Amino acid sequence: MHTDVTSRIRQLPTSVINKIAAGEVIERPASVVKELLENCVDALATRIDVDVEQGGAELIRITDNGEGIHPDDVELTVASHATSKLVDADDLFSVKTMGFRGEALASVAEISHFRLRTKQRDQLMGVELEVHGGIVKEPRACGAPDGTQIEVRQLFFNTPVRRKFLKTASTEFAHIAEQFTRIALANPGLQMTLRHNGRCVHELPPTHQLIERIELFFGGEVAQHLISVEAEHAGARIWGFVAHPSQNKSTRKGQYLFLNGRWIQDRSLQHALGEAYRGLVMVGRYPVAFLFLELPPDQVDVNVHPTKSEVRFQDSQTLYRLLLSTIRNRFLSMDLDSRLSVGA
Ligand code: ADP
Ligand code: MG
Repeated sequence: MHTDVTSRIRQLPTSVINKIAAGEVIERPASVVKELLENCVDALATRIDVDVEQGGAELIRITDNGEGIHPDDVELTVASHATSKLVDADDLFSVKTMGFRGEALASVAEISHFRLRTKQRDQLMGVELEVHGGIVKEPRACGAPDGTQIEVRQLFFNTPVRRKFLKTASTEFAHIAEQFTRIALANPGLQMTLRHNGRCVHELPPTHQLIERIELFFGGEVAQHLISVEAEHAGARIWGFVAHPSQNKSTRKGQYLFLNGRWIQDRSLQHALGEAYRGLVMVGRYPVAFLFLELPPDQVDVNVHPTKSEVRFQDSQTLYRLLLSTIRNRFLSMDLDSRLSVGA
């Protein structure tokens, strides 16, 4: 039977709108871990414990000792576009926190069984909030340590197609471990643990030395051969460690780039890094690198992508040249063993 009802324009029901929005932020369990970890960092936690089961498909539990959430605000955390981090539109162009869209928790709570427990230091009791597939239950008082704990069970239970497309637990866990690694490298002062199915995968003591943390993830061989770099130009600062050209891999996976404390992916800067090693490593080999870029927040737009992993620089050419020359000059200053050269 044909009716013309289908061709009329209707506003989508809120639950559908929310599920579409959730799909943009939450691609897989690792996206949940990323968003929750960023919130812990924004809450100034000094300790974060991550527990996952079955690659995060069954359970993701993240516990922090940060500022916690005011009891009156607990329900707002799962309302979309509700954030404590952005006040007006101008703030959008000077973002200093990891989050600011106020979308993550609303999205996660829409597509999982979600439980949040939080307590601020000056409160006597904690508050617990449960949301099941976007249906918010009345918050209630509970006993809780200072900080926030969020549990996400059965991610995608009400979006079965998405759930079906999850990869094996070990693949999903590998993505989670990568998100954990990025946050851990960007914040060496954070005490962090990661457990999978009850097994401890990482136990990271807090440190002032980034290199100690690099060693825990990538081993002594990599850490011993790192070369420190540092440079400043026109308000931009670059610092970190790059590999001796003898230490390289067959993929870019050992290359980490951070902007103002946030892991980013940037083709142009990746290219600059490759150029710095031109003639020193073979084509198709990639030196490990841990590079931190610091820029005044108003010189970069982090609002181009929902997960904020791609950013837009006001002056990307200057950054390109700064990164390239910083590494090149460092190599020149240390007179790299000429036998390493594979012909420029
Ligand atoms: P955003 O981080 O963009 O503000 P989220 O949906 O990730 O949005 O979080 C919504 C709000 O919930 C945050 O602005 C913050 O006020 C609060 N919040 C979330 N996680 C935590 C946490 N671990 N500790 C303290 N507050 C939190
Ligand atoms: Mg957030």
